[in-house]
Amino acid sequence: MTKIIFIVCDGLGDRPIPEFKSKTPLEAAKTPNLDFLAKNGITGTLNTTWHDKKPESDTAHLLLFGYDLNRYYTGRGPFEVAGLDMKTQPGDICFRTNVATIDENLKIIDRRAGRINNTAEFAKLFNNSVNNKVKFLLKKGTAYRLGLIMRGKKLSANITQNDPKKVGVKVLKVKAQDNKPETKFTADVLNSFLKIAHEKLKNLPSNKKRVKQGKFPANYFLVRGAGIYPKIPSFEKKYGLKAVCIAGAGLYKGIGKILGMFTPGVQGATGLPDSNLKAKVKKVFSLYKNYGFFFVHFKAADSLGEDGNFKDKKRFIEKIDRAIKPFLSLKKAILVITSDHSTPCELKTHSTDPIPILIYNKKIKADKVNKFSEKECANGKLGHFKASLLIPKILSFFNT
Ligand code: ZN
Repeated sequence: MTKIIFIVCDGLGDRPIPEFKSKTPLEAAKTPNLDFLAKNGITGTLNTTWHDKKPESDTAHLLLFGYDLNRYYTGRGPFEVAGLDMKTQPGDICFRTNVATIDENLKIIDRRAGRINNTAEFAKLFNNSVNNKVKFLLKKGTAYRLGLIMRGKKLSANITQNDPKKVGVKVLKVKAQDNKPETKFTADVLNSFLKIAHEKLKNLPSNKKRVKQGKFPANYFLVRGAGIYPKIPSFEKKYGLKAVCIAGAGLYKGIGKILGMFTPGVQGATGLPDSNLKAKVKKVFSLYKNYGFFFVHFKAADSLGEDGNFKDKKRFIEKIDRAIKPFLSLKKAILVITSDHSTPCELKTHSTDPIPILIYNKKIKADKVNKFSEKECANGKLGHFKASLLIPKILSFFNT
């Protein structure tokens, strides 16, 4: 039975950094295991852009898994919501949500409320609240995130977001993107909910305390990625491989669940730099017999890149390198190590810079690349290719 271990190091790719003698965090990191796999495997670079836009994690993963976004993608919200085990119903509109900090003029001070690490209080406060006969369901997500569902008659997901994705500017009004009455109604009800939520959040004792302590209060909900739950073929149906998703952060568990992958919880897997990566690797071994495809997601290189924190990004890459060591002893597995996009520290956001990839198997004829890095992999045998070709490429390569 084919065994593919498919490791996605989110936001791995980067650009040279002067403080690292003009190396990227991946180049500067000590990664003997990744380098062994690159040296004894084949390498290349890929990209995950859709409509030539800056890659987002959800669409980038669907492209890595070979799904046609024009056909199946309805927005990010459903993946976030599925990852939090929120039950959906037909007609529900799902959103990804952050708590943020805004000032009295509704200008954004911090899009993640100082990366506050628990939103349970805010979710509880508004879960099951009703506005204009529309029910709002909220659940806490990883760190500053929440899942949000609007449930009611005749709602539409064809609305804009209220997140300008910049600090120092006013939050946006949610707008209808077509002329249908249900779309305008959805936007109006959501705007009303967001306004009421802001008033309540800003007066919460815990937020007043945060202000006194010089911290950012979580006084606003930023909502993005409105979407209805998609109809999408499972990974197993598409490739004939029973699949597992091993992830800590909600979005990736949601992607796994929507693609029909078994998505077990892993003790200590947080999606944060402190995540227990070794426990994730152990989980693969415990399920190894019964599945063919193991999607293993390591998140924090992305968030550290978004923070411009190149030292900790380098450290996290070293932590990945140590964690994956047990995979080197597998005799038949095909190991794939790549990312969904680059998150250069100098940009503090995702970019279209090519992503390194390596494929390793004990029987594979290696190319001449000796190190797993952005620059080295550009010389690899796989060349530069579109992410959507990756899984068919792996399957044809090994004639599975
Ligand atoms: Zn990502």
